[in-house]
Amino acid sequence: MRNILVAGNWKMNGDTVGNAELVAGIIAGAPDSDRVELLVCPPYPYLGAVVAATAGSKVAVGSQNVSEHEKGAFTGEVAPGMLRDIGCEYAIVGHSERRTLYGESSDDVAAKFKAALDAGLKPVLCVGETLDERQAEKTEAVVDEQLKAVLDLVGVAAFANAVVAYEPVWAIGTGMTATPEQAQDVHAHIRQLFAGHDANVAEGLQILYGGSMKGENAAGLLAKPDIDGGLIGGASLKAPDFLAIANAAAQG
Ligand code: PEP
Repeated sequence: MRNILVAGNWKMNGDTVGNAELVAGIIAGAPDSDRVELLVCPPYPYLGAVVAATAGSKVAVGSQNVSEHEKGAFTGEVAPGMLRDIGCEYAIVGHSERRTLYGESSDDVAAKFKAALDAGLKPVLCVGETLDERQAEKTEAVVDEQLKAVLDLVGVAAFANAVVAYEPVWAIGTGMTATPEQAQDVHAHIRQLFAGHDANVAEGLQILYGGSMKGENAAGLLAKPDIDGGLIGGASLKAPDFLAIANAAAQG
C-alpha cells in the first residue's frame, strides 16, 4: 500500500519568526502514523533554517523550484546539488505558476526533473490543465504531454524516485476544488499511463492532488484509490490548517 504524502508549498510567503512557529506547530501536531509523510517547501532563503528546525522529525524539506544546471554562470539560479547539500530531500518542478508566470515549457521542466534526480533529490512533478483546456475536454491530452516530456527524457524507471502532483490550474488558489471524482478520474488516467510503461512503477507511484485542498475536503479526496496525498498551497501556511489535512490522511 502506498504512503500518503502531505506536502506544503509555501510559495513566496513567510519570514524567520513565522516559519519557526509554523514548523514547530507542524512537528508538535504531526499525526503518529507510519503511513503519513509530511513535506514542507519554503522559499529558498529559509530552506537551511527549516532543514535545521525539522532535523530528527518526520517532516521533510523540499524546494519549490530548481535549476536544470549543475553549476556555473547562471546568476540567480540554485543548483540541485546545493539543495541536496543543505539537506533538502525533494524539489517541486513544473508548478503551474512556474509554467505560466515564468514561461517554463514541458521540456524545461523535464530538464529540471532530471537535474534534481541526478543530484539525489526526489522531484515532485506538477501537471494539470487550465479551465479552458478542461472545458475543451483536453485534460488528458495536456497531462499526457506534460508527462511525456519527462518520460522521454528520463524513462519510466526514474519515477520510482519521484512524485507526481495533479494540479488542475483552475483549482489552484481559487477555492474551487476538483470533486473527488474529477480528481480520481485524472489520477487513474495518470497511473494507467505509467502502467503502460511499467506496472511496478505505476503501482508504487505517489500521485498527489493539488488545488484548494483543505481540512474540509481532504478526507473525500484522499478516500479515492489513486489519490496518495496532497500538494497544498494556502492551507499549508498555518499549522492547524495543514495538520487538519495530515490528520484526515492518517484517519483514512
Ligand atoms: C499549489 O500551489 O500547489 C496549490 C495547490 O495551492 P492552493 O492549495 O492554494 O490551491
